[in-house]
Amino acid sequence: MSSFPLAEIVATPGKEHPNSAYRVLYDGQCEICQACVSWLKTLDRTTKTICLPISAEVLSGVDSRLQLNDCLRQLHVVTPEGEILVGWDAVASLARLFSFTWLLGTLGQRFPFRQLGKTLYGFVATNRYSLSKCRGGACRVAKPETVKRQARLGAFWSCYTLGFFLRSPLVLWAGIQSGAQRTSLFARTYHKRLDLLNGKLTILFLNGFLPNTVPLLFGELFTAVLYDGVAIDPGSPKMRESLARHLRQAKPKITKVIATHAHEEHVGNLNWLSDITGAPVYVSAMTARFLTPFKKLPWVRAAIIGQPPNLKQPYHFLTDTLDTDTGYLQVIPTPGHCDDHVVLYDPKEKVLLAGDAFMGSYFATPNPDVDSRKWLVSLERLMELDIEILVEGHGHIHTLRADIPDFPGVVIRQDPKLAISQKLDYLRWLREQIEVGFQEQLPIRVIEATCFPWGKRTSWESCATDECIRLLSLGHFSRTELVRSFVRTNSDSLPTVYEIRISGGE
Ligand SMILES: [Zn+2]
Repeated sequence: MSSFPLAEIVATPGKEHPNSAYRVLYDGQCEICQACVSWLKTLDRTTKTICLPISAEVLSGVDSRLQLNDCLRQLHVVTPEGEILVGWDAVASLARLFSFTWLLGTLGQRFPFRQLGKTLYGFVATNRYSLSKCRGGACRVAKPETVKRQARLGAFWSCYTLGFFLRSPLVLWAGIQSGAQRTSLFARTYHKRLDLLNGKLTILFLNGFLPNTVPLLFGELFTAVLYDGVAIDPGSPKMRESLARHLRQAKPKITKVIATHAHEEHVGNLNWLSDITGAPVYVSAMTARFLTPFKKLPWVRAAIIGQPPNLKQPYHFLTDTLDTDTGYLQVIPTPGHCDDHVVLYDPKEKVLLAGDAFMGSYFATPNPDVDSRKWLVSLERLMELDIEILVEGHGHIHTLRADIPDFPGVVIRQDPKLAISQKLDYLRWLREQIEVGFQEQLPIRVIEATCFPWGKRTSWESCATDECIRLLSLGHFSRTELVRSFVRTNSDSLPTVYEIRISGGE
């Protein structure tokens, strides 16, 4: 199941079986139809079906016998043999394609279930617009302006809630699946060390009793990166024992200690590592300012990750380049994830050590100091580099290079530039949604919902994890912060509702 360009799904004249897939024509404006497509996409693991939202262009491309009004009235499916199935019969034939629903589909084609199914289907098909009120694309990849024009907010919420309700078993299942994947990855990286590029690049996976809850619940792994003698982001105090264990085992030569930015899981061991190796500490001037003193963390973060100590003298400021054992790294400011962020780039090896300046193409629960507008500019700057290996600060490597061995869940076989450009596309789309939403003076909750339309698969697939993160971080990391990250007026994070309430709403 995937989306195909129109040219690939149209019937080819002169060929008896132009397509090997069932072409499913659904109403892309209807939340109920979209929810059914989400179910179909989950069931269909082997691309037996292609789902196409109805438009005059699509219909004429697929089969000239299809009529727009008929297709809007009920589901139409064109089989690989060219037969057109309609309504309940189309549903039953699709159900027969998958073992999980095969029995339902088979019974549904027989008396009396066929008659029963037709009646039920007829009722839903006729009443679906009154069941999901905001026809007009409010819940698909919605423009907030369309939401306002075509539906009152009550209708918007009833539709959005219905969309969630219809997908709730899928949301739960996706949550369980990603939980299992996170657990597997955690187990495979526990106290693990990855030596790459003939020892030039080493990833040390860091653990700690309470810090371990983060990879298990949220999927972010903790790492320290060693690159050609430079130790980058050596973890928090609660991961110190794990780091010491790596140092005892690998005995790496460390000649410099640096931090990409001042977040607690990156800077808690700077002085400690410097003291035991004799290697000097390098940070940007802004990072140094954030670390002297390190402001008090919210208690959840302090309890789980650990409050880092203040940065002690002596330390040095990073300049444009940093010498390594056999070459040098360019130091590039990349504000966005936070204001003081820098990345390190080796132009010779084409390696980008991105820290948290890249955290996957889809990332929906940022920290309160993210400024997504600055992040967009930083990512555009990174697109100008020639990158073959992108190393994230939380345990993922994007590369197509064969000299980086496979490590499922850590090494992602994807062109790093493609990953960055997907992230850029996503952030640009969000920016547009949010700008229009604020222009239309929609409530922030509605704007947030339009940024996560259920028609986008990531919205419901990551819903359980995202909301779990919101709950456990007491709102510090959330989808709401993603909306806020586009409307920062300065580098200060916006006050929370709680803070506004205790200050009397001034
Ligand atoms: Zn960070």
